[in-house]
Amino acid sequence: MGKIVCGSNSQVVVGNGDQTLFWLDKWVGSSTLASMFPSLFSLSSSPSAFISSLRFKENSIWRWEIHFRIQLTGDLVFQYFNMLNIINSVSFNDYEDKREWLWEANKFFSVKSFYHFLIDGGLRFDCSNLWELTIPLKVKFVVWLALRNGLNTTDILAKKGIILQRTCCLCTKSDEDHSHLFLKCEFVYSIWRSLQFKLNTDKDFSLSSVKEVWIQWTSGYKGDSNLKRRVFICSLIWCLWQERNDRIFSDKKKSSLTLLNKIVTFSTFWLGSEGISARAARLQARRRKRAAAAKGVDFGSKDTATVIQLE
Ligand SMILES: [Zn+2]
Repeated sequence: MGKIVCGSNSQVVVGNGDQTLFWLDKWVGSSTLASMFPSLFSLSSSPSAFISSLRFKENSIWRWEIHFRIQLTGDLVFQYFNMLNIINSVSFNDYEDKREWLWEANKFFSVKSFYHFLIDGGLRFDCSNLWELTIPLKVKFVVWLALRNGLNTTDILAKKGIILQRTCCLCTKSDEDHSHLFLKCEFVYSIWRSLQFKLNTDKDFSLSSVKEVWIQWTSGYKGDSNLKRRVFICSLIWCLWQERNDRIFSDKKKSSLTLLNKIVTFSTFWLGSEGISARAARLQARRRKRAAAAKGVDFGSKDTATVIQLE
């Protein structure tokens, strides 16, 4: 498999680092180091090096030997130490690296999922079905950012040089990033479990990114079932992001049960709006038909076309 296919569509559970690209594979967190530290990557002397070629043992302690084309100074040094902090949190062992394919539930690469990826140019995995939903635009926008790890969580702000308290305000136990805030935080665990129950699914939510959850929870479902899943996930992300902001900026707090009720209420309302638009279209069609019949006018193809469009 080439780099394009591997880098963005698979994740590596790292063992000895012999088969994992240091900068271009996802082996720590939910992104590649190249996308987390683009400035460092652009200066790297060996952008396609394997992890094992950048580690060496000195006095029985493993050290990193990462070379750059220039001497790092200023903010680059700060970024470099940030990167070291991240990669030092990974435990290596003597086993081979294990590559997990993201687009199959069993994590094994399949020709079928690869074929789907190729024929639609990756569009299927861009979560473009978010924009079809009848939910407020501001909600779609927040969800769209969350799907791309683009909300201003404290880890992202730190990369931009804005240092806030890094601890998650929902559980106060771990650092805040997209994966923690929306998926791994103990505060959201019971909410996701309730959603599993409501949607009658055993799909996993403890994945590394919101995008993976979106794809796994919606692929293979059609019609109302697919719609319901998308709306519930949108509501969860929106309400959770509001709750996080309320806690940080307004010192207001809701319990996870209250938040769950809010998520369900919003979802029901938005799903109702979808239903109302469809019902309104049907009602309007019936009125037009009755009016046409009363006037003795033939109910022609133009009206039919309108009905189809409104539905
Ligand atoms: Zn938390």
